[in-house]
Amino acid sequence: MKKVVKFGGSSLASAGQMKKVGDIIRSDEARRYIVPSAPGKRFSDDTKVTDMLYQCYDAAARGEEIDSRIAQIHGRYREIIEGLGLNLSLDDEFALITDYFKRQAGRDYAASRGEYLNGLVLAAYLGFRFVDPAEIICFDERGNFDSEKTHEIMRERLKNIEYAVIPGFYGAMPDGSIKTFSRGGSDVTGSVVARAVRADVYENWTDVSGVLVTDPHIVSNPEVIETITYRELRELSYMGATVLHEDAIFPVRKEGIPINIRNTNRPEDPGTLIVESTCRQPRFTVTGIAGKKGFCAINIEKDMMNSELGFGRRVLQVFEENEISFEHMPSGIDTLTVLVHQSEFVEKEQTVISGLHRAVHPDTLDMEGDLALIAVVGRGMKAKKGTAGLLFSALAHARVNIKMIDQGSSELNIIVGVRNEDFEAAIRAIYDVFITSELTS
Ligand code: ASP
Repeated sequence: MKKVVKFGGSSLASAGQMKKVGDIIRSDEARRYIVPSAPGKRFSDDTKVTDMLYQCYDAAARGEEIDSRIAQIHGRYREIIEGLGLNLSLDDEFALITDYFKRQAGRDYAASRGEYLNGLVLAAYLGFRFVDPAEIICFDERGNFDSEKTHEIMRERLKNIEYAVIPGFYGAMPDGSIKTFSRGGSDVTGSVVARAVRADVYENWTDVSGVLVTDPHIVSNPEVIETITYRELRELSYMGATVLHEDAIFPVRKEGIPINIRNTNRPEDPGTLIVESTCRQPRFTVTGIAGKKGFCAINIEKDMMNSELGFGRRVLQVFEENEISFEHMPSGIDTLTVLVHQSEFVEKEQTVISGLHRAVHPDTLDMEGDLALIAVVGRGMKAKKGTAGLLFSALAHARVNIKMIDQGSSELNIIVGVRNEDFEAAIRAIYDVFITSELTS
């Protein structure tokens, strides 16, 4: 059994957190490849080390004195090292970093030092080998991640290393300069390592006990999802649920490696298992509920639209020419609605309208803004009768007016459009009818 284990910033923010991480790793000898983030927030208005590094680098670029900023960052690590009772000095590392900052070695280099240094500390604490991702994570000349080259090099390099710490978030370009993934990119490193070593599972440790059924800012203490498929997760993430870095799914999904989201502060909780497919019965009919505000509907009406060949194509072409992608396109016999992101649409609104008039000569064309879309996602819905009925009556009871309905052909999701102001009430009503009532029945 081989596990790749990634820890997020809050799991490594202090010596106390690091000790929990050490206990987790030592409790299972399959946890062999460890991918740390940089130290995150210790309390809610704390600053992440990655942000301190960016700020420090930007100050250096403005020609400001950075010694006190460097000392503060050094202090974060010193506190951890001393708290762990390690005999490790980062003085030389910080002298080098200060020099590189002053010589403007790049923002990516600057940010990457958070993970690099945390990797050194964790490797010393665990007695694992430190492997610098600058040697095994490759970006091409244009700065795009080169997955196949990385895969080959990493597989070869890790083949004979039994226990390693590989810092997250960065790699290097062909000329050796440091390049990072986008923010939250340690998730991607973990996934790439899991693929390279053919891990049995990729554990991603954070500060919640898994993927939540819905946004905890809207429903207090939502249930944790036990098992979710990659497709369900994709639907939820697209609609705003934040779980993992988007690019972290692909490398492991390709190899059929499950991801287990776990909580460093509650290691006894099983967390959420993200899998390609499963015959496990979902705990609830609905796996998750997510949504976003800020959509606009463009309603087009024309008699005999249904018999006009190429009508839909001409409509969408207008959007394409204006570089606006559409989210949904529900239609009736003589009506067609296109839903777009309001923020992308507003400035091009009048050009699109005149383009539509020219392209399809509608009888009427009107628009409605300030709409929210809610995705109700669940592989369990397919087998259940009356899911849509329950959903709509719940919204009716909550006095939410439904502006649009769209059920994907896979029956994996139902999308409802409501007014922005009804968004939270709608989510609560859906949660109640599918989760709370199933819990109590
Ligand atoms: N430390 C980086 C960030 O704050 C990367 C990560 O934590 O995944 O975005």
